[in-house]
Amino acid sequence: MAVDDATKKSCDGTNTGGSGSSGGSNRCIPVRVAVRVRPLVQRAAQEYFSSSLEVLPEHKQISIGSDSNRSFTYDYVFTPDCGQEEIYNAAVSKVVLQLYKGFNVTVLAYGQTGSGKTYSMGTNYVLDRDNEEEMGIIPRAINDIFKSIKDREQDYEFIVKVSFVELYADNLFDLLNVGSREECLVEIRETPTGDIIMQGVTEVPVTSLRETMRCLEQGSLNRATGATAMNAHSSRSHALFCMTIEQRRKDDSENMVCAKFTLVDLAGSERAKKTGATGMRFKEGVNINQGLLALGNVISSLAAKEKYTPYRVCKLTRLLQDSLGGNSHTLMLACVSPADDSLEETLSTLRYADRARKIKN
Ligand code: ADP
Ligand code: MG
Repeated sequence: MAVDDATKKSCDGTNTGGSGSSGGSNRCIPVRVAVRVRPLVQRAAQEYFSSSLEVLPEHKQISIGSDSNRSFTYDYVFTPDCGQEEIYNAAVSKVVLQLYKGFNVTVLAYGQTGSGKTYSMGTNYVLDRDNEEEMGIIPRAINDIFKSIKDREQDYEFIVKVSFVELYADNLFDLLNVGSREECLVEIRETPTGDIIMQGVTEVPVTSLRETMRCLEQGSLNRATGATAMNAHSSRSHALFCMTIEQRRKDDSENMVCAKFTLVDLAGSERAKKTGATGMRFKEGVNINQGLLALGNVISSLAAKEKYTPYRVCKLTRLLQDSLGGNSHTLMLACVSPADDSLEETLSTLRYADRARKIKN
């Protein structure tokens, strides 16, 4: 595979693809937006499919409410009966291929708690335990990456490393560090060249799907113990799983391509007031909403090709700076519930996703 000169770069922060702090680049790549409507899952709790939600996948459209003005069009629209494989093949697999050309690739899952972000991303997927059909985006992508590596191994040498962090109440934790919770705290630093680094974060070299999935599983266990505790915890924290892939031609060691793949399972987008949260819970809610709001602002600033992109506002956007800038392919998967009692949050997610999609070149 020929390496495009424009995307050739090194991992020491001197990439020529243009992902500097200004976010400015003459190349403009759109953010693609997919909306997935999950099936009704809480049958026992009497969930009803909202009669005011209309999903039109053939037109990539979703209408909400009786007012037909509230109709949104996206790059992909997935109905409740779309399976994990269909979604991966349609919306994700092509984006993953960009990694070998030296582009950074980012997949973000956005939506209210219970809308299917973790299920879709596969953040908690366990190899050999869970049904293969239910494999989410992260394990499918990892599988694809190692398959491609195998196909290219004759001519190329690869170094793949993973890290897994979570942003919780505005603190960044290294989920692959086996130390105490305090020891897992990670600082975000900016290098003189404007690159954002997570100071001292654990980076595990991996060579197979199995090894990589072990990192994902261990990291997920470090988030909180117990299934219900994990759900409550994960709805208030952002999880970022990162893979860096270095690819070097065996007959030309100068020719190196480095790309970062970032998979983000965002905190629940529901507003704090809805859960009646007070004290610490309320603070967490405020942090989450600030992060998601700032992320929305960064995305629309990129969309409008503004000269200044407000990455510095919070940790989430700082961390995603080089994942969202000029040298990056981004897919936002907006997850919504079709249930009648989620209508307000569904509309808010559809609006957020619509705003992200305004990015056009
Ligand atoms: P979130 O991470 O957005 O809070 P989850 O991914 O945990 O939501 O989903 C909530 C529940 O719904 C889980 O039990 C999950 O397995 C189930 N679920 C979500 N999406 C689907 C789907 N497309 N098909 C089947 N079950 C789903
Ligand atoms: Mg979740």
